[in-house]
This record gives sequence, C-alpha cells and structure tokens, in this order.
Amino acid sequence: MSARNILVINCGSSSIKFALVNEAQEEFTLSGLAERLGSPEAVLHWQQGEQRDSQVIAGANHRQALSHLLPIAQRVAGGQLHGIGHRVVHGGEDFPGACRLDEVSLQAIRKLAPLAPLHNPANLLGIEAAMKLFPQLVQVAVFDTAFHQTLPEHAYRYALPEVMYREHGVRRYGFHGTSHRYVGQQAAHLCGLSFSASSWLVAHLGNGCSTCAIENGLSRDTSMGLTPLEGLVMGTRSGDVDPNLYSHLARTLGWSLEQIDAMLNRESGLFGLSGLSNDMRTLEQAREQGHPGATLAIEVFCYRLAKSLAAMSCALRQLDGLIFTGGIGENSALVRSKTLEHLTLLGLKLDEQANCRCPRGVASAIHAEGHPRILVIPTNEERQIALDTLALLD
Ligand code: ADP
Repeated sequence: MSARNILVINCGSSSIKFALVNEAQEEFTLSGLAERLGSPEAVLHWQQGEQRDSQVIAGANHRQALSHLLPIAQRVAGGQLHGIGHRVVHGGEDFPGACRLDEVSLQAIRKLAPLAPLHNPANLLGIEAAMKLFPQLVQVAVFDTAFHQTLPEHAYRYALPEVMYREHGVRRYGFHGTSHRYVGQQAAHLCGLSFSASSWLVAHLGNGCSTCAIENGLSRDTSMGLTPLEGLVMGTRSGDVDPNLYSHLARTLGWSLEQIDAMLNRESGLFGLSGLSNDMRTLEQAREQGHPGATLAIEVFCYRLAKSLAAMSCALRQLDGLIFTGGIGENSALVRSKTLEHLTLLGLKLDEQANCRCPRGVASAIHAEGHPRILVIPTNEERQIALDTLALLD
C-alpha cells in the first residue's frame, strides 16, 4: 500500500487552518489558511513546497472555503486523499480518545458547546461542512482534552460542592493534549525509552501555554482547567488569578461579566503586564533596550512557569526529562534559562551553550552533564492528528 494522505483541519470562528499530511513524509505536502471567512475580504492562502498561492473567496463561509480547498488538496494528494482529521477543542468526559465522526458523535460534540462556547461551535462548522461536501471520506475528531482524561480524581476535581461536578461538569479538563502527547512520545523515542514506561514534565508555550505531567504514557496532571484560562501566564490570557477578582471588579468598578472575561482573556498575560505586546520576540527585543514592562512580563512569565512545573512534579515518581515546546518553548533560550533559575531544587541545570545554540526545528538536549534531561522538542499537532486519523482508519 502506498503512503496515505490525511487532510487536517482546524476551524476557528472565521478561519480554517489546514495541512495535508503524508504518512511517509516529514514535511507537510500542502498547508495553508482560509481567513476572514464570512466577510468580503475572505481569502485562501496555501503553500506547496516553496510555492505560495492565494485566492480571493469574497464572502465565502466555511463550506464554500472548504469547497475551494478540497480540490487543491485532492490534486496535491494525486487524487489519493484517505481521510480528514478535525481538531476539536473540547471532548468533555465523553471522548477519552479520537473518534470517527457520524451523527451520534456529532450530537455528543454539539452537546459540549456550553463548555467551550468559543471553540466547539467553530470546530463544528468545519466538520459539518466537510461531512456534507465529502460524505465518502472517513472523518475523525481529535480532541485537545482527550489525553487528560487519565488525570486522577484528586487532580481534576475543584474543591467545590459536588453538585457542581456531577450536574454541571465543573472540573479540570486540560487542553493542548495532542501536543503534550506528541512531544512526550518524541522525547521517549529520542532517548531510547518506551513512552509507556517513562515520566516527563512538559511546558507547551505558544500563544496559549500549559504544563503537563506524563507518567507511563498517561497525563497525570496539567495546568489548564475547566477552560484554557487557568494556569500559566499566556500571550493575552492572565492564567491563575484570585477567583474573587470577578466579584471585586463587579463591586468596585461596576464591570459586567463580559468586560471581565474580555480583560482576562484578551488584554492580560504578557500583553497586559508589558503594556506592549503579546509576542515574546517583541518583548525580548524591548527588554534588551531596557523596557520595564517587557522585563517584568518575562520575569513573571518564567517564575509562574517554574512554579507550575514544580507543582506538576508532585504527580510523578521519577523524572526522565523536562520538555520545552511551542513557539516560545522551542525558540526562546532566555525563557528556558530564566525558568530553570527557579528550579534548582529539582536538580535541573542547563548547559547554557547548548541552550543558546539549540537549532530551530530540531529536537535537542540542553541539560548540563550529570543532571536530569532537559529537551527542546518541536511540536507537530497536525501530524499527531493525522496519525490518530490513520489509526482509526486501520
Ligand atoms: P500558537 O499557540 O498560536 O500555535 P506558537 O506556538 O506559534 O503559537 O507560538 C507563538 C509564540 O512564539 C509568540 O509569542 C512568538 O513570539 C513566540 N516565538 C516565535 N519565535 C520566537 C523566537 N525566535 N524567540 C522568542 N519567541 C518566539
């Protein structure tokens, strides 16, 4: 059988990110983005090898964008497209793994919308459009939450009245599971260990950030909770704050829930602290020039990350290594170095030269000799989604 092709789709409210993954090739054979969907400026961008193209698709919705995209994917795949893998943010407790999409699973995903009101309805738009357009193709949903369904109860329950959990699903779910699982597997492979018999701490640091403790191939704790706001400082999200902040702002400033939500999700984090940017590259440059807000934002980001990793270590009985991934984790030697300054009690120590030399896009070991492993592993959520889709095809 020749190597199979899977189209991976990640739908947002006004965008579709996509990648065509061939199981035998490292690089995506096609990747791109349809953006500003539903507006006159809707446009489809795609890249095949070095060649980049764009097509104006004025006024196109998700379905129309997919109907433009699919023939391109079919052509690049030489007419051999074997399935579509959809990223879905929230699988609640119903989905401990990927699932084939049919009317029953679609209905279950629809029901989870209250847990992820911004994400699941957007993911569903893409799924429903793709299923209508390509009823003959196998379609699979891969959930950000699924990997964390193995958290023990003492890690996923909040200290709230039980009815909140039993009747309203209020518990910690965790996100970025596809990335944590992918880099954990890659790390084990790189070190000649079995994923199912090794233990890892992972820091996924992109625009959203989370930590995870993996033991014997299973997620045992993670920093995000009911929603992706809990935990670390992120690009524009605050991470943990005192839960009384809501009532405090409502009482003292008369703010509405929507205003507080917007501030915590879109105006906080690195952006709020620095007063400058949510982008770590910009902040590192500003810090070089003595910008106090950028300096503080990086200090808080790294300290809170170290605190979270130390907390995650409670879930493990041994440590085979600490993994950095995501745009910041893979590229910022400064963040890695500042974070590890706070983690000396865990015995972790960087080889500063290896940390600074670490080549882009390649897995590397950056720990000092004689100390626990510290690895930089590029994440590849699209590839993991394609692998999960292929596993269900098999
Ligand atoms: P997303 O979560 O949207 O997939 P990414 O994983 O691409 O995001 O991460 C985006 C973050 O990575 C941004 O804060 C960006 O500044 C940061 N980043 C990318 N390259 C570098 C770099 N060379 N140095 C520091 N930060 C970087």
